[in-house]
Amino acid sequence: KDSINILGVRIDCVNFRKAKEKCLEFLNSSSPHIVFTPNVEMIMLAQKDEKFKKILNSGDLNVPDGIGVVWASKYFGERLFERVTGFDLMMSLMPELEKHKKRVFLLGAKPSVAERAGENLLKTFKNLIICGTHHGYFSQEENEKVIDIINSSKTDVLFVAMGMKKQEEWIYKNRKKLNCKLIMGVGGSLDVLSG
Ligand code: UDP
Repeated sequence: KDSINILGVRIDCVNFRKAKEKCLEFLNSSSPHIVFTPNVEMIMLAQKDEKFKKILNSGDLNVPDGIGVVWASKYFGERLFERVTGFDLMMSLMPELEKHKKRVFLLGAKPSVAERAGENLLKTFKNLIICGTHHGYFSQEENEKVIDIINSSKTDVLFVAMGMKKQEEWIYKNRKKLNCKLIMGVGGSLDVLSG
């Protein structure tokens, strides 16, 4: 079985290694792919919000973020082996992105957090190409400008850390305008990385 359904939300049956492999595959494909990391909270939110459920199910890869999803999967007939958090998955991609000279854009969190997260990443991944950063507090009016900044950076990967629901909704709404290969929602990851 490739995926299971937890209360209407599709979760792909991937362990960490497989999830990483998929992301690297996406990076080498010609069209943009989206990775979501549904946790139990997100699945609960989707129960009250059909649109959000539809958005989550539109992900090209939905990894089981959080041990809750792994547990819940048992009660829905199929066992997921391990949790794959957005943060861990993102970090596991860094050496690969560095090695293959892929461009990385960090979007989200409060002003200057993404910049600091980028600086910290460069301490470990010295040759990583961070082609741009932007905070996650922009208005609808500023949206097109932000899209332009992202596309002008010619990034391959866009990590979006604007918190759950907000980031998935933003990715879904703007996916057709974004010219990158891999777009991943990573929640509060930039806060963690900036510290
Ligand atoms: N965030 C953002 N834009 C917003 C709201 C939140 O960039 O409009 C960022 C916030 O600064 C934090 C991350 O999203 O870095 C996660 O936020 P929060 O903890 O509120 O979300 P959750 O834990 O629900 O995913």
